[in-house]
Amino acid sequence: MADGKRKKERFKAEHPWCCFCGGEAPATTIDHIPARTCFRNREYPHGFEFPACDHCQGASRLDEIAFAFWVRALDHNDDNLTDKDFDKLISGLLNNLPDLAPQGIASRNGKRQALRRMGLRMAPGLTLDHAPIVNIDTRLHAHIHRYARKIALALYYREQGRIAKASHRVLATWGQASDQRFLQRDLQPRQRHGEQRG
Ligand SMILES: [Zn+2]
Repeated sequence: MADGKRKKERFKAEHPWCCFCGGEAPATTIDHIPARTCFRNREYPHGFEFPACDHCQGASRLDEIAFAFWVRALDHNDDNLTDKDFDKLISGLLNNLPDLAPQGIASRNGKRQALRRMGLRMAPGLTLDHAPIVNIDTRLHAHIHRYARKIALALYYREQGRIAKASHRVLATWGQASDQRFLQRDLQPRQRHGEQRG
């Protein structure tokens, strides 16, 4: 048996159940989470392989395309823009989810409002023309949240050594690293239930 096939068989023997749908479906395939396309030159971390059933792997195909594109696009690393694999992500998005590609540069007014909303100011000497702000279709949120859920279920399985039940709830939020208001509001430790504000 070829090495790859033997490795796959051993993985399936060790992880017989899909970890994404409550542990009731037999695993038929190995899912890489986060997807390998999220990483430059496919230099993805090893050991982030998870047992999945065909349904769970197939159901996140479009979410994965949207997630990988935006993770790479928001990286602000110019190298991404010349990578052949980033070009593939662009075609993947345009072929499958054209509405979720950047919807053009925001108007000056739109940029002004976005900066205010994010608690940001232009650096001295720069004008709004320099602000790289684009419009995004709000339907993107549903794709990102579904994929975040998949990542959470994978990490739960990895860290807890058991499959999250269908009754588990996942809280996911996302935003841009430069969004000061998001960082202050959503990434602060949450108050515990019943705790009084001082
Ligand atoms: Zn499943």
